[in-house]
Amino acid sequence: MTIKVNCIGYPRIGPKRELKNALEKYWKSEISEGDLLKCASELKKNNWQTQKDNGVDYICSNDFSFYDQVLDTICLVGSIPERYKHKDHEVSFKTYFAMARGSQTKDLDVPALEMTKWFDTNYHYLVPEFSKNQKFKLSSNKPFDEFDEAKKLGFNTKPIILGPLTFLSLGKTTDETFKSIDLLDNLLPVYAEILSVLNKKGAEWIQIDEPILVKNQNADFTKLIKKTLNQLKKFAGSSKIILTTYFEKLDSEIEKEILESDVDGIHLDLIRGKISNINSLRDINKTISIGIIDGRNIWKSDVNKKIEQVLEYSKFIKNLWISSSCPLLHTPYDLGLETKVPEKIRKWLSFSKQKLIELNHIKISLNKGNNEIKNYLDENKKDIASRVTSELIHDDKVKQRAKNITTQILNRKSNFIKRSEIQTNLFKLPLYPTTTIGSFPQTSDVRNARAKFKKNELSLKEYEDFLKTKTIDAIKKQEQIDIDVIVHGEFERNDMVEYFGEQLKGFTFTSSGWVQSYGSRCVKPPIIFGDVSRPESMTVQWSKFAQEQTNKIVKGMLTGPITILQWSFVRDDQPRKDTALQIAFAIRDEVEDLEKNGINMIQIDEPALREGLPLKKNDWKQYLDWAVKAFQISAAVAKDETQIHTHMCYAEFEDIIDAIAALDADVISIETSRSRMELLKTFEKFKYPNEVGPGVYDIHSPRVPNKNEMKELIQKASKLIDKKRIWVNPDCGLKTRGWPETIAALETMVQAAKELRTEK
Ligand code: GLN
Ligand code: ZN
Repeated sequence: MTIKVNCIGYPRIGPKRELKNALEKYWKSEISEGDLLKCASELKKNNWQTQKDNGVDYICSNDFSFYDQVLDTICLVGSIPERYKHKDHEVSFKTYFAMARGSQTKDLDVPALEMTKWFDTNYHYLVPEFSKNQKFKLSSNKPFDEFDEAKKLGFNTKPIILGPLTFLSLGKTTDETFKSIDLLDNLLPVYAEILSVLNKKGAEWIQIDEPILVKNQNADFTKLIKKTLNQLKKFAGSSKIILTTYFEKLDSEIEKEILESDVDGIHLDLIRGKISNINSLRDINKTISIGIIDGRNIWKSDVNKKIEQVLEYSKFIKNLWISSSCPLLHTPYDLGLETKVPEKIRKWLSFSKQKLIELNHIKISLNKGNNEIKNYLDENKKDIASRVTSELIHDDKVKQRAKNITTQILNRKSNFIKRSEIQTNLFKLPLYPTTTIGSFPQTSDVRNARAKFKKNELSLKEYEDFLKTKTIDAIKKQEQIDIDVIVHGEFERNDMVEYFGEQLKGFTFTSSGWVQSYGSRCVKPPIIFGDVSRPESMTVQWSKFAQEQTNKIVKGMLTGPITILQWSFVRDDQPRKDTALQIAFAIRDEVEDLEKNGINMIQIDEPALREGLPLKKNDWKQYLDWAVKAFQISAAVAKDETQIHTHMCYAEFEDIIDAIAALDADVISIETSRSRMELLKTFEKFKYPNEVGPGVYDIHSPRVPNKNEMKELIQKASKLIDKKRIWVNPDCGLKTRGWPETIAALETMVQAAKELRTEK
């Protein structure tokens, strides 16, 4: 038996974010289409070369994208919504980027397609739209061109195509009389064309990505699987199909359907899951690609252990490939480029290139023995061992604290009704109190000052003086607009997670750890490597300063434990839950500190609470239990007199409304305006017990909202929620807006609230 290495997707934005830079220049017409294509070709070539140099046997193509692989598939199968006025045979860059980013030219004035999170990752894809009689037509040659491009350079690649089941399932329909999956029969002929072209071009293997199969599916859907796979296999002729799933294990019924289908190979994520019935693989004549290296995280693998694991599988599987658990899109490029992470931590890390190297060494060990790679294996063993025992990671006090969670720690002193009475008397707020979500415009002066401070071009004093001026100015503006509960503006924060991570023990930051978030946007998540604690207060200085400038109440602003967890690379040597609870205690200490320093309202933002939901419904309860606990730990230390707010910027609450209520925040502000109906639907069914601020206008658009629209929304809400418990606020923070529209919008909002107070 020979083990082969299978690459199922490599990052594409470029080791130094070359694609980001090229795209943004192209959009500003600073470079030509030719320049953009050239940049893309370079990146693709380098990726192929890196795979080849590091022993990948099945190098992939069509994992590159100018924006997003789902958008590429929309183009490939020609499901371009009519408003983009696509006419040509092949989708042009103009149409492509109009769908990605919207267009505001004379001949094409359209918003972008909706964007949403790709499974449980922080990557966002563009949502396909389907109409009832949707026709599909091959409208892009991208996979073919990329295959040829690689071939010309001497790389025989395995093209990756997003599968029809996932593509349809991720789309939305224009009306509710049909489901997108009903379009399968219309769509498959285009897949027939795609696969037959690839076959003619000489693709030995074609990778069909169907991550949707890891979700719990109903019987109707499950019935479609085998049939569809068998058709794809037929379309591919002499090319072989490897069905690729990731992000979770497969439910056993689905695993069975796939194993019984005609596809030649299957890729499974063995980091998140197991094979349900490993014995069944013994007599199956399929290639099995096992995803044994974590594609979602940045930790070095215990290669010696992985070798044993693969050896075990090789007893059951004849044609065995090894791979990362999922496409490497979700890990940064190359640790070799890293300059910031301390050396002691760096040796515990592995980025995409290092993951290929790990796979290659596993392969060499199993195919040829350990002789040639002894040094690598010894080194790996040492690094892994040093992490287990490192003093940097382990803090017994922190561990101990997170173990003793009593009901006293989890619950406020009194229940909401009692607290509400106390707080009403204390704060004496008007009906429909107005507030904002926290941040105010981070204009270029703010960003410049921060950059200068980081480069030591501004002293701490100069920087802080600047921040003070900005904060005072924001307070004055809010006083003038007559907002009831004000905020300090968050000018001192670069990012709501990074700001806290930088001040917490157990976090580190990279110089090169970029991962694509959407299009040209990348994020550099903090790395949580050790037990988390708070050496000193993190926000007291600015909150206190702000409170001293005004007689109005200033809300303290904290990021919640789940959001900090969710937007970081989390250590994998303990359950996520344990890390979440440690962060929760750090935030708890901050709440206590704020309180001691005269802050009487504290907002703990949890915009990522919902996106942390596991992919499988069966796992939701367990997650929500500890997520809620983490929030409670953070918040429940507050005295009855202190009002705890929380904020979430989405409105799909239906599934988790019980958990939201269990947080027991005194006030929750939520996104509502973009999806008016959603929230109201939920509140019709569920009587939310505490106070609510349904976002009355969308902060994503510079458009100044209409007063009557806002009033209507508040009135609608007041039919479902006691009006004494309604707050008036925007959907989210105002960081990305400019000042003029912010002032205009908030003035209108305050006006709307004031008018409603006097109306019956
Ligand atoms: N307080 C944060 C802000 O206003 C909340 C951001 C968020 O919800 N994503 O910027
Ligand atoms: Zn928000």
